[in-house]
Amino acid sequence: MFEELAAKLTAALGRLTGRGVLTEAAVKDGLRELRRVLLEADVSFELTRQFLERVEKKAVGAQLIKAVRPGDQLVKIVYDELVVLLGEKQAPVAFASVPPTVILLVGLQGSGKTTTAGKLARRLKQEQKAPFLVAADVYRPAAVEQLVTLAQQVVVGCHSEPGVTDVPALVRRGILEAGRARARTVIVDTAGRLQIDAEMMEELKALKAAVRPHEILLVVDGMTGQDAVRIASGFHEALGITGVILTKMDGDARGGAALSIYGVTGAPIKYLGLGEKLDQLEPFRPDRLAGRILQKGDVLTLVERAQATVDHAEAEQLARKAVSKKGLDLQDFLTAMKQMQKLGPLKTVLGMLPGVNAQALQQANLDERRVRHVEAIVLSMTPRERADPQLLNGSRRLRIAKGSGRTVQEVNQLLVQFKQMQKMMKSAGKPGVRLPFGKGPGGGFGM
Ligand code: GDP
Repeated sequence: MFEELAAKLTAALGRLTGRGVLTEAAVKDGLRELRRVLLEADVSFELTRQFLERVEKKAVGAQLIKAVRPGDQLVKIVYDELVVLLGEKQAPVAFASVPPTVILLVGLQGSGKTTTAGKLARRLKQEQKAPFLVAADVYRPAAVEQLVTLAQQVVVGCHSEPGVTDVPALVRRGILEAGRARARTVIVDTAGRLQIDAEMMEELKALKAAVRPHEILLVVDGMTGQDAVRIASGFHEALGITGVILTKMDGDARGGAALSIYGVTGAPIKYLGLGEKLDQLEPFRPDRLAGRILQKGDVLTLVERAQATVDHAEAEQLARKAVSKKGLDLQDFLTAMKQMQKLGPLKTVLGMLPGVNAQALQQANLDERRVRHVEAIVLSMTPRERADPQLLNGSRRLRIAKGSGRTVQEVNQLLVQFKQMQKMMKSAGKPGVRLPFGKGPGGGFGM
């Protein structure tokens, strides 16, 4: 499905991956290529612009991780933004706390609605959601027959009333029958038109008001590119859809619809239709698709791992400074806290620190919020104060508290902890004792 897009994106970023040094010109070049590929894939102009703006901003603001080449890091940024563009997380069907959950399938004629109703029933049956079908595509007798046949294939119940045109009443009876059949999910196949028209929307609005569905899923043909996006916007404005199922993604779709629909409507893509058969419906996973489009799994894993661990060069410098005569200042304290936080739960870190006053450290309570508070406080100090905490008399402490939006008590507490850390570092600096920073197994920095 996304092969062509994948190949083009890979080529666009190819010149950047693996490069040790990224010149501004190279980045600009890469982004320009990226822009061309996205527009060619039918991603809207506005979405493309926003996308590149975010990538560029992140690329400029990114801290270089020393273990990773800058080009690879840029690929990771593009990947992250692709995931965001696609909706970030997989959006499951929202089930009602009290069954039955009512799902309306809406969409234009030929989009694959009836087929998708069967596919969804099959999937929900596998997930023990006890599905039940309601044939409400009353203008197309063939569609009713088609759904009845699908229901037999999947072996689920199906409500149909040939000849009846009062759709809300029909669907309400369908839901009652589903209840009697002990079904927990009701999938309603509604009538489509060849194009969006006011009459269809009015019918759907009336149906929505009558049965208060938990989900309104728009089934849309992914092969139609920008049209799919336009259709999704139309349905969303009129009806407020809760999600999208993109069908025919097994064809030579350029991918733009998948890339744009969430960005344009805010409604997540929940499933992809990948063929005519009943088992060819898959949950839509933004991260997986982004990975497939970028074809850079190895690079991504590498960057992720490096981001997750500490910056060794920074850590080593800290460790050296800790045992030097001058010792650590408050700026280092902040750096150390951030490093420790990255190292994982405090207890693990403690385990790596033989000879350290564990209790003293435990009091430091390194949760994320606290690290942010410490950061605010330290950043409110002047460089001189950070280097020489002795300067911090009462009025300076008050100023810092105000500047950081914390209390004077918190500032005091931080200074106490800083002293504790200095003491701890001194003891850790004794022969045979290892710090959690630096090279080697267990992160020890031999001293
Ligand atoms: P409806 O008018 O929206 O109910 O559309 P149908 O369910 O009748 O489907 C229209 C055509 O699209 C049929 O020939 C289906 O087999 C086909 N179709 C539906 N979903 C897919 C899909 O994911 N992939 C492919 N290749 N064909 C599909």
